[in-house]
Amino acid sequence: MTLSLNRASSKRAVHCSICSEEEAAKMASLKEKLIGHLATSGEKHSNNKVTIVGVGAVGMACAISVLMKDLVDELALVDVMEDKLKGEMMDLQHGSLFLHTSKIVSGKDYSVSAGSKLVVVTAGARQQEGESRLNLVQRNVNIFKHIIPDIVKYSPNCVLLIVSNPVDILTYVAWKLSGFPMHRVIGSGCNLDSARFRYLMGERLGIHSSSCHGWVIGEHGDSSVPVWSGMNVAGVSLKELHPEMGTDKDKENWKKVHKDVVDSAYEVIKLKGYTSWAIGMSVADLAETIMKNLRRVHPVSTMVKNFYGITNEVFLSLPSVLDNNGISNIVKMTLKPDEEGKLQHSATTLWDIQKELKF
Ligand code: NAD
Repeated sequence: MTLSLNRASSKRAVHCSICSEEEAAKMASLKEKLIGHLATSGEKHSNNKVTIVGVGAVGMACAISVLMKDLVDELALVDVMEDKLKGEMMDLQHGSLFLHTSKIVSGKDYSVSAGSKLVVVTAGARQQEGESRLNLVQRNVNIFKHIIPDIVKYSPNCVLLIVSNPVDILTYVAWKLSGFPMHRVIGSGCNLDSARFRYLMGERLGIHSSSCHGWVIGEHGDSSVPVWSGMNVAGVSLKELHPEMGTDKDKENWKKVHKDVVDSAYEVIKLKGYTSWAIGMSVADLAETIMKNLRRVHPVSTMVKNFYGITNEVFLSLPSVLDNNGISNIVKMTLKPDEEGKLQHSATTLWDIQKELKF
């Protein structure tokens, strides 16, 4: 009895299962007809996710530069301007055919940034024509009070890369607000200044910037310090060939190269309203070193207390070894007393501003 009942019910079951398979086949969507499954579909996590906070001119230049370098499997964008944010996301998504990044997402809510390896902060007010970077400071500190805790909440292990100006002070602010160890909070700092310096050096020498070596360190902007003693092409020291390099006695006026670096942001802002492409490409270069754990050396803003006689907690650019945990080491450059003096002067200027900040 039990057996026959079981047989009957199992026959029914077979019949029903055939029924449901036929029905299911009829009901299947095109996607289901086309694609069979091997792995059970579950939540797919990104392995190499970067978030960019702020989709203004700088944020979008960073976004396109990161995408074109194929550095990530997911790019997230965050901003407070929802329409602009969605528009920028859609515009990038429509270029997917030409990219190798599988997921581009955006949202006002920081949950879209969850699990990022690197978060780039470009949000904030930008310099007006003729306005110094330091003038911007309290406006952007107030913005950071909202941004940084949310980044930390969703990506507690990320590397934070600050781009918003004044970048050295805001990197300090981000460090304080995040509670992160100092090696995981980096300012883009003099990475751009050094790139501009090497471009202008290359223009004078007729050699591509990548073969023109020179470092601009210290504060990003007005008080940055060119290290004349380190300028070289193929290891040949320019300062040894031309000892007046960087002095007022120099008939070739190489000092102008650095002056042009300092003036260049002001000039570009005057001409087109903002700077974007060079900073975007320089940020993507940093992102590449971090995401690929390359341990290349970049002039980026880091905590310089105890270096070159600096006693306060300020962030300035020094040659830093970057890997996927942030800054692992600092290269101790041999500086001339006047170069060291300039760094200390920048440190004091920044500290005088920092100690008045409310956050
Ligand atoms: P922008 O005005 O075009 O864009 C700023 C974006 O930040 C806007 O989309 C705005 O909606 C967004 N934003 C404002 N408050 C926000 C918040 N609370 N949360 C999220 N997003 C917010 O400005 P930009 O030209 O892109 O410049 C951005 C910053 O980058 C400025 O501070 C600028 O000075 C700086 N910058 C730095 C460097 C460098 O070398 N470090 C170079 C160029 C510009």
